[in-house]
Amino acid sequence: MKETVLIVEDEKDIAKMIDYNLKKEGYKTIIASDGEDAIDAAISKIPDLILLDLMLPGLGGLEVCKELKAERKTASIPVIMLTAKSQESDKIVGLELGADDYVTKPFSPRELVARIKAVLRRGKEKDKLPETIKIGNLTLDFSKIEVAIKDKPVELTSKEFELLKTLIKAKGRVLSRDYLLDNIWGFDHAIEIQTRTVDVHIRTLRKKLKTEAKRILTVKNYGYRFEYED
Ligand code: CA
Repeated sequence: MKETVLIVEDEKDIAKMIDYNLKKEGYKTIIASDGEDAIDAAISKIPDLILLDLMLPGLGGLEVCKELKAERKTASIPVIMLTAKSQESDKIVGLELGADDYVTKPFSPRELVARIKAVLRRGKEKDKLPETIKIGNLTLDFSKIEVAIKDKPVELTSKEFELLKTLIKAKGRVLSRDYLLDNIWGFDHAIEIQTRTVDVHIRTLRKKLKTEAKRILTVKNYGYRFEYED
């Protein structure tokens, strides 16, 4: 599954150029042309990465970065800032605010794509889960695809396992039904597979997890999140 990149850029030509080059590399893209739109899109779509121009009309890029990092749903999404040479100090502030990297304008598409790949790869390594994980009474073995509660094996279907793993990997972040559907069932899912599918699988998963079902929390009208704490 290719990642989704949110492009935040008010200059239409630059946004188009980035959009074209990312699509060519197989990424999915969303374009936002101001700060408010960027925050809305980030919260509703949960992209895998955000390319954030710092010079935006209205709410500036640094402000956007700060808000995204303060919001739990979006805090762990990597941000690459697009900066001008004259914005040296903003760049430092941005990195302090939690941005992952920056690219100085003018940049070549190749350079940008390389940077995106590197940041996404780093993120994946950081997200890598240990082979087994124990959360309360729940034990998961990711390599063997086994789940147990108090050492008693739980039989999950592959989709239920993927669902549980995806929720755990999100480290407490709320995942929307759309996100889960795209990531577990994939984009090629048939029309009849709708977001309700996610709810149905959550229901069966909860039933099988018994006492540990309390860890899968519903976020009304949005999606689900996994609770690590007892
Ligand atoms: Ca700009």
